Amino acid sequence: MAILKVARLGHPVLREPARPVPPEEVGSPEIQRLIDDMIETMREYDGAGLAANQVHTLRQIAVIEVQKNPRYPDAPEVPLTVVVNPVVTPLTDEMADGWEGCLSVPDMRGVVPRHTAVRLECLDRDGRRVDLVAKDFFARVIQHETDHLNGIVYVDRIRDMRTLSHIAEWNRYWLGIREPSD
Ligand SMILES: [Zn+2]
Repeated sequence: MAILKVARLGHPVLREPARPVPPEEVGSPEIQRLIDDMIETMREYDGAGLAANQVHTLRQIAVIEVQKNPRYPDAPEVPLTVVVNPVVTPLTDEMADGWEGCLSVPDMRGVVPRHTAVRLECLDRDGRRVDLVAKDFFARVIQHETDHLNGIVYVDRIRDMRTLSHIAEWNRYWLGIREPSD
């Protein structure tokens, strides 16, 4: 396995849509190695998720995992989830504001509105069909990662740019403060 280089904001690969993986290719050594490397890279940098665009590969693959994460101290745990060719459907018009960061936008945080419940249809790393309902933080991470696969970065979704903060100032001035509401 290998820790991969992460593309940062401004790299065009973050702005391109990723191509679907043909189901018969999911089990190939190349895709399996990519998935393993993405998991290792996500864990190395304490990300809550990682999309293939972020490691310079335009395939519709994302990995998600939240263990006790110093980047998201209040986040609930999410088991390791490998997402291939995701289709995300909002299940509610209800949106919630929450802080997000991104390994491609180092040391920054901003408040992003997301649907509080989504349906996720995708393949897992064995090519099996997955169809699940995700809520709250898990739904947020799914929306963040699938945005990447469509060339969208969370900063595009920030409604109030005044929340965009460097991590030190976020810790000092925002953390623990009630999240701004409309
Ligand atoms: Zn990201």
